[in-house]
Amino acid sequence: MDISYLLNPLNKAQREAVAAPAGHHLVLAGAGSGKTRVLVHRIAWLIRSQGISPFSLLAVTFTNKAAGEMRGRIEELLGMPAGGMWMGTFHGLAHRLLRTHWQEAQLPQDFQILDSEDQYRLIRRILQNLNLDETRWPPRQAQWFINGRKDEGLRPQHLEDDGNPYLRQQIRIYHSYQSHCERSGLVDFAELLLRAHELWRDHPALLGHYQNRFTHILVDEFQDTNAIQYAWLRLLAGNQGKLFIVGDDDQSIYGWRGARIENIQQLTQDFPTVRTVRLEQNYRSTGTILAAANTVIAHNAQRLGKNLWTDGEEGEPIQIYRAFNERDEAHFVVERIQAWQNQGERRADIAVLYRSNAQSRILEAALVEAGIPYRVHGGLRFFERAEIKDALAYLRLVAHQNDDSAFERVVNTPPRGIGERTLSQVREQARQAGLSLWQAATQLINTRTLSPRSANALQKFHRLIEGMATAIKALTLPEKMELVLEQSGLFDHYRKDRSEKGQSRLDNLKELINAASQFKAEDPSLETLPEFLAHAALEAGDTQAEDREDCVQLMTLHAAKGLEFPLVFIVGMEEGLFPSPQSLNEPRRLEEERRLCYVGMTRARYHLYLIHAEHRWLYGSESYPKPSRFLYEIPTELTHELRPQTHIIRPGYAPQEPMASDGGLQRGQRVKHPKFGEGVILGLEGKGEHRRVQVNFNQAGTKWLAVTYANLQIV
Ligand code: ATP
Ligand code: MG
Repeated sequence: MDISYLLNPLNKAQREAVAAPAGHHLVLAGAGSGKTRVLVHRIAWLIRSQGISPFSLLAVTFTNKAAGEMRGRIEELLGMPAGGMWMGTFHGLAHRLLRTHWQEAQLPQDFQILDSEDQYRLIRRILQNLNLDETRWPPRQAQWFINGRKDEGLRPQHLEDDGNPYLRQQIRIYHSYQSHCERSGLVDFAELLLRAHELWRDHPALLGHYQNRFTHILVDEFQDTNAIQYAWLRLLAGNQGKLFIVGDDDQSIYGWRGARIENIQQLTQDFPTVRTVRLEQNYRSTGTILAAANTVIAHNAQRLGKNLWTDGEEGEPIQIYRAFNERDEAHFVVERIQAWQNQGERRADIAVLYRSNAQSRILEAALVEAGIPYRVHGGLRFFERAEIKDALAYLRLVAHQNDDSAFERVVNTPPRGIGERTLSQVREQARQAGLSLWQAATQLINTRTLSPRSANALQKFHRLIEGMATAIKALTLPEKMELVLEQSGLFDHYRKDRSEKGQSRLDNLKELINAASQFKAEDPSLETLPEFLAHAALEAGDTQAEDREDCVQLMTLHAAKGLEFPLVFIVGMEEGLFPSPQSLNEPRRLEEERRLCYVGMTRARYHLYLIHAEHRWLYGSESYPKPSRFLYEIPTELTHELRPQTHIIRPGYAPQEPMASDGGLQRGQRVKHPKFGEGVILGLEGKGEHRRVQVNFNQAGTKWLAVTYANLQIV
């Protein structure tokens, strides 16, 4: 068979990696050097040229989206479906294993996945049960503690407090949380990985089976694996040379979530035969963008070091824009997007990247106002929206009545007269008798300890859930969904809400039925409802209708890993935002922020805009941030400043202005601002859309505002 089409579109180093003989391989190379491309071609090459069955391949990617794209690319190369191949995220793969081997993993067959919000709620309840004050023992901290230990492979019984009261308490919370999860058949994200690791560790025969089955293990974005993921891979690899690992130490950006760059060195120690391949040619970005990104990352001390070059065009300089404030920033982005559209280019080729999710709101508002379709990735995903979680919680409770977090979520949603007092009685009963909330409620209904009204309301809820449990048995997945949405009263609840938000929630619920009809389980032998619920919990939220539309892509820098776009904006390039406030005094974290900057810049193929604002409202407070240090790390000959610093006159140094000026504003005039109230104009500067006004407000003090957006009224 002629397989040259698999090797021809590659350079020499890439070709050698793709067609490497059996053994362990580590492809260590910079952004845009074709690592993911090599991985995809390697899989196709193994199947086509080596006759390896897709059934023997295991491929790990960082997101479900990446897994989907990868499968598509491989099937395109092969010209046939690659069924049987295990491909997904570490979490997705671990989940699949646990579903198949639930007995060996000591889980109930219908175990449920607890996403991080459910986990948070559960931990809060555990804290209440332990009589711990939330202000002293913040639930987020306990959550962080538990997940962190699990990521290291540690159970509560492995932990010692060494006489430290803080640790003693955290371990106690972890203990109590864990036994609750075991009782209720709940598995959180970190638990998926830990359990899957223990499953293999404790069942050598089972491990042997998978070691024989998977003759090739391929991993993308290896630099962001954590300790337990690495341990899992190591078990599976066994003694045969079968790892094909791809990564870039300069793009490790999940250290804060337990990822360990050290795994790269660890790999070379644990598998001394590993062959390291380096790719040095970048095919993604222009020479200018690449040179700038290379210079920024060179400021990091902790690097394995590499050379990255391109023979592509030099391209245009990197555009730096200094905005007055976050609204000016958003308007600038919108303006450039409009110019791009007017040239007949696709909106989907544009990405707007930011450090913190909270930054998207103002960008979204500006895009909506301009009528530009957009999509937010990685923010509140479809399956994380409140109404969707309500619907799923009903399904969970119907399937598994002892699921306490589902019970808590829907017992009074929509409102049905079950108040906080009744609920605390239920919780108390559950705690004392060691029962689930459902069981406790059942007891209370029959014991007359509740007021007749409360007992009645609870009884109704009880009948509702039991009724649904019987009714859905013979139905298909979308029918189950529809029945639950109707009978639970959720549909009605939002139908009555005529506000835009209510309507959009209703649309989302309808979309959920859609998602259920389109859902195909990875493994057809498994039951669809638990599979669907797991799919919903394990991210994936890419089922939004807007997907099919040509829209601008908004996402955090973290979510942009592995992707590429012709035009990229990075907004909020300011000290204390990017780099983040926590990193300013911590060299290790600062290096991680710089890697994040490197990731962001190298997403761009041809055009890159870096934007910072002089004044910003964020998280409800106001700041006058300095431009990000990363901007200064880019050689000036590679950049073009859209508002050169020298032309800007700092507040307090405003030059003499003619008394009358455009917009009819004058120094000394009294004006009114919608938010700051009344004040007097002290100064004016700039021209056209960059015109600014300084006002001394009676209440809010002296401020500089952009005339175009300030909405000032002369009084
Ligand atoms: P990242 O580190 O950002 O994940 P990567 O190393 O995985 O990047 P890819 O996404 O595989 O890089 O490749 C970057 C771009 O370069 C893609 O558009 C890819 O198709 C293209 N590319 C890679 N190798 C070649 C090649 N030999 N010839 C032409 N284009 C290539
Ligand atoms: Mg990649």
